[in-house]
Amino acid sequence: MTDFAATKAMFDLPQGVIYLDGNSLGPLPKAAPARLDRMMRKEWGEMLITGWNKAGWMAQPMELGDRVGKLIGAEPGHVTMGDTLSIKVYQALASALELQSDRKVVLSDNGNFPSDLYMAEGLLRTLGPEYELRVVDPEAVEENITEDIAVLMITEVDYRTGRKHNMAALTAKAHAVGALTVWDLAHSAGALPVEVAGAGADFAVGCTYKYLNGGPGAPAFIYVAPRHAGRAVPALSGWLGHKAPFAFDLSYRPGTGVERMRVGTPPVLQLTALETAMDIWDMADMADVRARSIALTEQFIAGIEAACPELELASPRDAEARGSQVSFRFVEGYAAMQALIARGVIGDFRAPDIMRFGFTPLYIDEADVSAAISIISDVMTNKEWDRAEYKVRAAVT
Ligand SMILES: *Cc1c(COP(=O)(O)O)cnc(C)c1O
Repeated sequence: MTDFAATKAMFDLPQGVIYLDGNSLGPLPKAAPARLDRMMRKEWGEMLITGWNKAGWMAQPMELGDRVGKLIGAEPGHVTMGDTLSIKVYQALASALELQSDRKVVLSDNGNFPSDLYMAEGLLRTLGPEYELRVVDPEAVEENITEDIAVLMITEVDYRTGRKHNMAALTAKAHAVGALTVWDLAHSAGALPVEVAGAGADFAVGCTYKYLNGGPGAPAFIYVAPRHAGRAVPALSGWLGHKAPFAFDLSYRPGTGVERMRVGTPPVLQLTALETAMDIWDMADMADVRARSIALTEQFIAGIEAACPELELASPRDAEARGSQVSFRFVEGYAAMQALIARGVIGDFRAPDIMRFGFTPLYIDEADVSAAISIISDVMTNKEWDRAEYKVRAAVT
């Protein structure tokens, strides 16, 4: 059994704050500042360039890839780290399309995160006018997986509502018509058990600053199924994805397996911070995390629905059909969230009217959820949100 009191004690959580936004940016692992300080002084400071070999910086993306890979059910050696998630979406989609050269349609849904759709648009534009991005309602994805689809590009858990797609079923349907899949696990990795290998996913990508707690700007990950890892050709063919980066050949030869998905110099400081977060993940079992996440989200939904009739549940009521977040609709959702933040309950807002709350069992418990429910109830009952200062939109919502 996971000792959640022990994992909670590993995070630096400010006094007086109930942090329900770990789905956007995970909190600081207590070990991170000292680990980074040591890395900077002992490795960067003293080893200088020799740190790439001596301190193992060059091996970090694959080592951490395996640690993240454990949480998403990947085979060892088939996940690597680097770049941002948007870049990894582009890379995975480009490689998948190249493996499917006789088909030109990418299928996605309008619950996907806009950046994934934007990256696909940009890629397809450069590939040519015969390529098409087909965007349907989330409920209509399955029936739209037809013989002309090259790649099914789907985010498993909807960033606004938390609605969860069935990865195994959609992947099986895609394969049955000869399509490949690119799964975005941004709201899945560290949120619920994922089995990329078990589901037969072809490519998977995700970020590490949300549920995985790697810190702002932490790098993304990419998984390529072993059956494609030696055939997929990266469109972003940087030197660190080359077979022999230090041979300085004039032309590109893809590296071994998923290593070819590396592009340029890895973000060593960020990867070092992520290591401290992964040390905490080593203490957790994903099945325990999921069971507790469901208990916390059920407690929250019941409490809010009983106390705040103005808030309308935007997430699936069936726990099995949602990720680890709960969203409510409210016309003045932005102002209400600002009022909540002023009272120490931190969630976030997604236009046009979604108040979003993330539940992260590593550091949120029943007492936090009870306290959050009573503060939200207060803010709603007393219309604390109805003040001009709460209605001014900041750049990041
Ligand atoms: C958070 C998120 C992103 C963000 O991409 P970055 O390049 O890391 O900024 C992309 N896609 C999805 C589905 C996300 O949830």
